[in-house]
Amino acid sequence: MKAELSNMYETLGISREVWEFGEAIARELAPRFESIGKTAEYNQLKVIRAMQANRVSEACLYASSGYGYNDLGRDTLEKVYASAFGAEDALVRPQIACGTHALAVALSGNLRPGDELLSPAGKPYDTLEEVIGIRPSRGSLAEYGVTYRQVDLLEGGAFDYEGIRRAISPRTRMVTIQRSKGYQTRPTFSVTQIGELIRFIKSIRPDLICMVDNCYGEFVEVQEPSEVGADLMVGSLIKNPGGGLAPIGGYIVGKEEYVENAAARLTSPGLGKEVGATLGVNQSFYQGFFLAPTVTASALKGAVFAANIYERLGFPVIPNGSEPRHDIIQAVTLGSPEAVIAFCRGIQAAAPVDSYVAPEPWAMPGYDSDVIMAAGAFVQGSSIELSADGPIKPPYAVYFQGGLTWEHAKFGILMSLQKLLEQGLAALPR
Ligand SMILES: *Cc1c(COP(=O)(O)O)cnc(C)c1O
Repeated sequence: MKAELSNMYETLGISREVWEFGEAIARELAPRFESIGKTAEYNQLKVIRAMQANRVSEACLYASSGYGYNDLGRDTLEKVYASAFGAEDALVRPQIACGTHALAVALSGNLRPGDELLSPAGKPYDTLEEVIGIRPSRGSLAEYGVTYRQVDLLEGGAFDYEGIRRAISPRTRMVTIQRSKGYQTRPTFSVTQIGELIRFIKSIRPDLICMVDNCYGEFVEVQEPSEVGADLMVGSLIKNPGGGLAPIGGYIVGKEEYVENAAARLTSPGLGKEVGATLGVNQSFYQGFFLAPTVTASALKGAVFAANIYERLGFPVIPNGSEPRHDIIQAVTLGSPEAVIAFCRGIQAAAPVDSYVAPEPWAMPGYDSDVIMAAGAFVQGSSIELSADGPIKPPYAVYFQGGLTWEHAKFGILMSLQKLLEQGLAALPR
């Protein structure tokens, strides 16, 4: 089998040296992968338990159209999300266009003119700057008279508890906490850390609504922020919880009152959760959620493998090869534009779709430099599928995530390395 495998890799363009280097690292990672497997096993049971407890039936997989009144599949799926995530209620809809939209709906549904939003852990994700109005934007919360306050992390990444205490005013209504580092350099927060932060905030003002942006974090640990005190938790279905099958969508789970407030904003006051046809996506939402724990585990193995490969070659990696993981994103600092381009071309060349195209750096809305993106995905822009992107600016880092299967993630990473070696941009250790 060893010979067949190595020949197969060779026919796909991976040299014997690269394959053997990868095999040696994969062998060392066996105990780590076993523990990722245990997390997936626990979370798989968690999802099945939620599906059984809510009596998911074949009828739940059917489509509704028009107003979508009494869509059994939609209403049951929302109960499944609420149960699995230990929350009272959920909104899980194809009408939620993306993660940013889900966050915008949760915020604007729960804030009123004169309220203040607090970010106690530094700057939120880029796209939220326009939702909040940190960067002036049409329709932002700022235009509706909602103000914003931010407390940065201390040097070293700890929460600035005294700063947070001082920043909470009588007008503070809501708190937003982002679990994943996104494209920043701070570490991703663990669920335990998020729980501690929420406990501290509630000790000052128990009535504050604590929302967690859970993008890229679902099923990485055995607990979610909604199980450690978050009043609202929000994410995208074209990341972890869609399991690669959801073609669109987002979720908001949490306290019933706050989910209802969000629903009134997503559809309309008075209509709330009662309308919203599912147009045939129910089956992929259910099946994707069912697969999500193991798909997330595959992406996680890929991220750990990439960290170890590139760390061994002398490139700075965040997180490093051995530290615990709280999301599926891997950053690798490659140090030159050529290396960023070669890496992304390798990921693209390993894709099941569009493998023959060579991605180029390009100007993108919202970015201040050219950006190169590699994605050969079944769902456009899906980042639970193997994907990478890198802004063409110092320190020339790529952000790598996803992989519906560990085997594909591994192949993609080996291909990225192959491309770097072919151009003399990296060298295997002697
Ligand atoms: C992906 C992501 C979002 C939302 O992004 P969309 O592209 O709109 O889905 C928000 N916050 C974080 C941390 C994310 O990773």
